[in-house]
Amino acid sequence: MSTSGAKFKFKVTVVGDGRVGKTSLIKKFTKGGFQQDYIKTIGAQFTVYHKDIKEDKIELLFWDIAGQDEFSFLRPSFFKNSKAAIIVFSLEENDLGNESFKHISNWHNDVMQFCGGIPVILFANKVDLIDEKDINLSKIENIINNLGLLGYYVTSAKTGQGVIEAFNTIINELYDKYKALSLSFNDSNSSES
Ligand code: GDP
Repeated sequence: MSTSGAKFKFKVTVVGDGRVGKTSLIKKFTKGGFQQDYIKTIGAQFTVYHKDIKEDKIELLFWDIAGQDEFSFLRPSFFKNSKAAIIVFSLEENDLGNESFKHISNWHNDVMQFCGGIPVILFANKVDLIDEKDINLSKIENIINNLGLLGYYVTSAKTGQGVIEAFNTIINELYDKYKALSLSFNDSNSSES
């Protein structure tokens, strides 16, 4: 048994229509210590981020899609081993805003199909482009309830509003879940290697 804490590694996939701000949100959150890589064969990019919680070390791999078009047949490898998912839509009052909201349930279907019942959180991004009091919260709350999502955060990758809180919610959720599992299964999910 180690006294120096456990190590956890979580893959988190970030999905949503093109240009809603997935890459910008990941960049904003991981700023300072990130390393980004691009996997050509599956049209995805990932960013590694390290975070300590108490005595434990967490490595997060945020995956997002690079180039929407030729992506669909590669989805299984993109989603493989994801421990959580973030669905992003844009609050913009234009076609991207409307379409990206409509497509939340499609993205959720994909996550369920390829990852099963992992925790999913919704980011309502680009709040800096609208008047916050115009947000139709009941519409967002309905979709959260209908799809059984963990919750939603109003974010801006531009100003940083809500970004840290939103990502930390999913990270803490994963940590609490796998920490409890590792304790109950005596280190089955933590590794020193
Ligand atoms: P992705 O295709 O979902 O990864 O979207 P990107 O992160 O590439 O962002 C698409 C465009 O939207 C870029 O021009 C970003 O600078 C811009 N963008 C992303 N997030 C925000 C935001 O919160 N506010 C504003 N004003 N622009 C944003």
